[in-house]
Amino acid sequence: MKKKNILSLLALLIPVVTGCSSGTGDHYPDPKGVATQDLEAHHIEGTLHDVNVSESSIKFIENGETDYTLIYPKNNGKAQKTALFIADHIQRATKAYLQIKEYDEGTYDSSMKIICLDVEEILDSENISFPDRELGESAYQIETKGNAVFINCKSNYGFIYAAQSFLKHTIGYQRYSKDIVVYEKDGATLPNMHILEESDFTYRIASNFMDIDTTFEMGFLIPSEAIYMKGFVNNYHSSCLYLPADVYYESHPLWYMSPVNTSPYQQNANQICYTAHGDEEEYQALVNELFERIKICLDTDKEVSTFSFTIMDNNNMCMCPSCVEASAKYGAESGSIVVFMNKVDDLVQNYLQEIADATNTPKRVVNLSFFAYNRAEAPCAHKDSTGKFVPNSEDVVCHPNVIPFLAPINADYVDSFYHEENRTLQETFEGWQALSKNMHLWIYETNFTAYMYPFNSYSTVIETYRYCVDKGVDLIYNEGQHNQPAITAFGRFKDYLDSVSQFNVNLDYMTIVDDFFKNYFREADEPMRKMIFEIQEHMAYLRQKYPSDVGGGIYQIIAQSRFWPKKILDDWVELCNEALTRIDVYKNSDSALYNILRKNIILESLFPRYALCEFHSGKMTTDEFKSTLDALEADCRTLNVKNYNEGNSIYDRFAGWR
Ligand SMILES: [Zn+2]
Repeated sequence: MKKKNILSLLALLIPVVTGCSSGTGDHYPDPKGVATQDLEAHHIEGTLHDVNVSESSIKFIENGETDYTLIYPKNNGKAQKTALFIADHIQRATKAYLQIKEYDEGTYDSSMKIICLDVEEILDSENISFPDRELGESAYQIETKGNAVFINCKSNYGFIYAAQSFLKHTIGYQRYSKDIVVYEKDGATLPNMHILEESDFTYRIASNFMDIDTTFEMGFLIPSEAIYMKGFVNNYHSSCLYLPADVYYESHPLWYMSPVNTSPYQQNANQICYTAHGDEEEYQALVNELFERIKICLDTDKEVSTFSFTIMDNNNMCMCPSCVEASAKYGAESGSIVVFMNKVDDLVQNYLQEIADATNTPKRVVNLSFFAYNRAEAPCAHKDSTGKFVPNSEDVVCHPNVIPFLAPINADYVDSFYHEENRTLQETFEGWQALSKNMHLWIYETNFTAYMYPFNSYSTVIETYRYCVDKGVDLIYNEGQHNQPAITAFGRFKDYLDSVSQFNVNLDYMTIVDDFFKNYFREADEPMRKMIFEIQEHMAYLRQKYPSDVGGGIYQIIAQSRFWPKKILDDWVELCNEALTRIDVYKNSDSALYNILRKNIILESLFPRYALCEFHSGKMTTDEFKSTLDALEADCRTLNVKNYNEGNSIYDRFAGWR
């Protein structure tokens, strides 16, 4: 099919276009409204971002060449990947070829012009070490000394942040998306860098679908880097993958929930019975067998620090007399899970201690996490007379290495977690805090029934991140359109926002907006910024007018014609048209950039064009509708949009409309 130019398509679609400033009624957005209002700014104290950088006269790149070599430790794949990442961007920004090299013991002398990436022997000889304070796994340090730069990382999790920081200060590097990278400096000199930082969330899993390289460069982890998820444990919902019913049910029926309301072999329809129906021997066998299964993973993967044993994705929990009794005793269904996880943790920690003793090495840090989700979301804690949450029993206090993975699926995600709409959630958080020092968190940032429509959490999510850091969350997954290769409705802005604000939750929201729109849309900044502000205003208005239909939930039916009048959608399409006109300056001077910017803008036009086809086809002639839909479908295919909601193909939807 011949792909139509969006401009000609829109000329067909909107024969008479009026200016964007005219209103559609009393609610028509004022761009200065909700999107830009001062947020409550619950800034968090105690985060670590000490960045002291000043210019120096030390030469780094001259005439596209450099004398420097980057040296990284032997047999460390993550370090090599990070070294390649640094060298690649130095070359792209300055054309200089930065040599990278594995370190050979005993070959360092202090006159060398090197960038040392976490080579212990070199750091020791230069007395580079972390200050004496508690640091997370993502901590890194950069020190300029003499002619060299020394990078020290607490663990492999710190490499990416150190590398981003090094590149930012030497060549002005910043990545905004898969296609947009900016270099603002020429790298002529190496600045004096004295930096000590760590990510406010140690472990961050990308929200929306993202290729592996972009995931890494934007500071996210793929799920299996944050939580063990390999081999037979290849899902977030892992309990019945560690202990599959088709292997164990016949010999150990008491390990599984009752009543079993579907075939016990359908793993997803079932849960583990965390009390083994009160049978002590079977309970011990269950604990032992899970430990054996975890041990296989521990022994084959020496890097991973978090194993999860999580309930399956359904609303079942065992209702055997023993589980009902435990639930009554502890005050919530999560109680028997915590008790069980603590038992397994005893075996895991003993095993790790034995290895440490036998090999005379430090004990490996391994955490076990479990879902506080669905029926297991509520903690076994209550408020005491002073209003402070306290454990219902000592049995349900998590061991130091046992961590609740809270997934509050019913929270209000349009408001921040500080908002009174989230009072119940705040109590859940405080309850779990009484049971565990650390927390993992799974939250949401899209409407799973309507992928093509906006979800108005843009300006509030940064507040939510502040709340979570304050509550001791160290692993975060803000689930978005995980199976959608191209996201409309400013999903790419959310990716960037997550990339920078999960690292430093105290950043200013409007500064991030300015930075992103200026770089991701260039000359089209103004109309695109107007569009997102208007979307935010419109959604805030909808929420006010239709509170039961447009709340902060992730399954609300927002794809309804009454919410999306034709005029407002036409105006948004027109803003995209104007944006396309503004980037014309690059058409001849930089066609590669032009095509990237054009793609970025067309991606945002998909939402209003989709909504026009969904709700306003009656106002088009048959031919107009056909050509409009043809062009929309062609753009969706070109950009690789796959779904219109979490589980259904957008192309089946288009076929239905035809
Ligand atoms: Zn049970």
